Amino acid sequence: MRKRLIESEKMELVSHLASSVSHEVRNPLTVVKGFLQMMNQNDIPFEKRKEYLALSLSEVDRANQIIGEYLAFAKPQLAKIEGIDIKEVLEHTIHVITPLANMNSVVITKNFETCLIKSNKQLLQQCFLNITKNSIEAMPNGGFLSIFTKKKDDKFVITISDTGVGMSEEQIKRLGEPYYSTKGEKGTGLGMVTVFRIFSDLNCTVKINSKPDNGTTFIIEMPL
Ligand code: ADP
Ligand code: MG
Repeated sequence: MRKRLIESEKMELVSHLASSVSHEVRNPLTVVKGFLQMMNQNDIPFEKRKEYLALSLSEVDRANQIIGEYLAFAKPQLAKIEGIDIKEVLEHTIHVITPLANMNSVVITKNFETCLIKSNKQLLQQCFLNITKNSIEAMPNGGFLSIFTKKKDDKFVITISDTGVGMSEEQIKRLGEPYYSTKGEKGTGLGMVTVFRIFSDLNCTVKINSKPDNGTTFIIEMPL
């Protein structure tokens, strides 16, 4: 289905990364700097100050996310496989993306079972963050992000769906192509590359259902 990048292509991509990463991270840093300067004024009302702080924090998260996306792509690490509870990983994901969801008026619904599997917490975390961040970004005027889990035979199934803009078949096919992004300046086009690589390394399968204007569903199956 999706061709693996051959080594020379990969090297070329990695050399682009160093220059892209500084450019990408500069945007959120500029925004944070602006808010900090505004907060430095004496006559700012408390509510405004809180709002600037919240926005600054989510921009810092964004800078962090961008670096994470690039690093995981440029420098794959040997994943430490250990016993983890998927429920904890998902709860943490929700904790991290809630500010972004609030900014976009996205309501998160969830229903998780505890499930112990052998995997890598950081890498899974990164995948869930990339997927849910895309979901929220697909709902600029609000909507619902729902995440639920269930056990099915010898698999643990995680379903992440949004009520966002959705994708055409052509767009779905291009998912995971390096630098493919419909977000212009705001996108890196590396999130899904990372997601597919990590899931494949962790023996997880990903299915995507999506239709324009009808939202998107990611179904992730992991071996128990
Ligand atoms: P980026 O988010 O930086 O654009 P990604 O690799 O994360 O890069 O995603 C690539 C593209 O896939 C996005 O630009 C978007 O067009 C599409 N996409 C991914 N997830 C969704 C989603 N849940 N709903 C609609 N489009 C999506
Ligand atoms: Mg993304």
